[in-house]
Amino acid sequence: MELNQLTIHELKEKLLSREITSVDIVESVFNRIDQVEGKVHAYISLLREDALRGAAGADQKIQEGAGGELCGIPVALKDILCTKGVKTTCGSRILQNFIPPYDATVVEALRRAGAVFVGKANMDEFAMGSSTETSYFGVTRNPWALDRIPGGSSGGSAAAVAADECIASLGSDTGGSIRQPAALCGVVGMKPTYGRVSRFGLIAFASSLDQIGPFTKDVEDCAIMMNVIAGYDPKDSTSVPQDVPDYRAFLNRDIAGWTVGIPREYFRDGMDPEVSAAVKKAIAVVEDQGARCIDISLPHTDYCVAVYYIVAPAEASSNLARYDGVKYGYRAENCRDLLDMYKKTRSEGFGAEVKRRIMLGTYALSSGYYDAYYKKASQVRARIKEDFAEAFKRCDVILTPTSPTPAFKIGEKTEDPLQMYLSDIFTISANLAGIPGISVPCGYSGRGLPVGVQFLAGHFEEGKLLQIAHNYERHAHIERRRPEL
Ligand code: GLN
Repeated sequence: MELNQLTIHELKEKLLSREITSVDIVESVFNRIDQVEGKVHAYISLLREDALRGAAGADQKIQEGAGGELCGIPVALKDILCTKGVKTTCGSRILQNFIPPYDATVVEALRRAGAVFVGKANMDEFAMGSSTETSYFGVTRNPWALDRIPGGSSGGSAAAVAADECIASLGSDTGGSIRQPAALCGVVGMKPTYGRVSRFGLIAFASSLDQIGPFTKDVEDCAIMMNVIAGYDPKDSTSVPQDVPDYRAFLNRDIAGWTVGIPREYFRDGMDPEVSAAVKKAIAVVEDQGARCIDISLPHTDYCVAVYYIVAPAEASSNLARYDGVKYGYRAENCRDLLDMYKKTRSEGFGAEVKRRIMLGTYALSSGYYDAYYKKASQVRARIKEDFAEAFKRCDVILTPTSPTPAFKIGEKTEDPLQMYLSDIFTISANLAGIPGISVPCGYSGRGLPVGVQFLAGHFEEGKLLQIAHNYERHAHIERRRPEL
């Protein structure tokens, strides 16, 4: 095995026993990038020099017996996370030359833990998409099938981990953007509870839904990343001042006696039969471990996608008002006056999907329509949240498919936004309710494309998710394949 293929916990052991150095790991990661990045295109920018320098510093720390939880580990960051002095584009032309003057809190946390940054990962423009096809910087390809999408919007972060072009990465999830690409690329991805991880320095899409979370090669690494990024931050007023448990303490535990809810609304005809078969096998695995699987109902499920496509665009239309060519970012040239400058800047700076969302959101918030759309959607959102509260009275966690299909072909859904929006049909509800979710690989389709199973839990129950996901991972015996590139 090459070093770039190993997990954080495997590498840490080798680093601490001085068997290898961080420079060895970073070199191995960049060798891999040199071999496969031309095919995958997981990154918008690479930080080779910085990473090598960081690795040398990490090795020094390890020599001194110091160094944090991620000392010397190469990590990728979705290009929606602000990095001081390093270009942060959010996948958009409008920010193509934007260099933030500060680090996001999660970036600071990773830095403090000793992580080494490999690069900024590709993404759908402003995180709007499910396929990474809306990026101004070109599409990322699924490492398991280069003619297919990696999922989105954090497709670059997922593909980079799957292709061993980094050891772990961070993404953001507003309606499924961590869990769906994790499933489609065969890696682990977690969206924490709303408020669990600081969003200071995360470029805003939909502020009542956005969360930052990790992509990793296994569940243990997910716990390690969560230990580093979770916690209250006075710079983010929506982060919650609640103690963070040691997430590793939830690993290697059994789930005997647990009740697992299987929501009937998530297992309907029309779902891809191979996804359905793999997820049914996952149910059998957790039952085998002594959990009782019960039928539950989340009655407002049918409204989730509709509610999301009112709430998210409404918030986005307001958040994206700041890109006007005045303060920072792209500014159109040869403008007649201020209004002309605004118009040209935004017409040239934003791509088609972002414009679609701004129009949807502006319409939904406009006077005379606000009550019919935004207010109504907020009311239905409250019902969706109640569905989960009711369900968690009867079960510890909920099990569902992560995505209704394995990775689809590049271009397959770009002409049909509704079909694209339906890729998140199983993930959106967790964002609307603010609850945490994790996607774990649960098998392959006949074509060899990865399939993921999703676990959901109540607010701040990430520990429970890691416990069942780790238990599942250890007992499911999913064949460990690697994409051929
Ligand atoms: N695919 C959904 C959208 O396009 C979710 C994106 C996300 O989670 N950032 O809005």
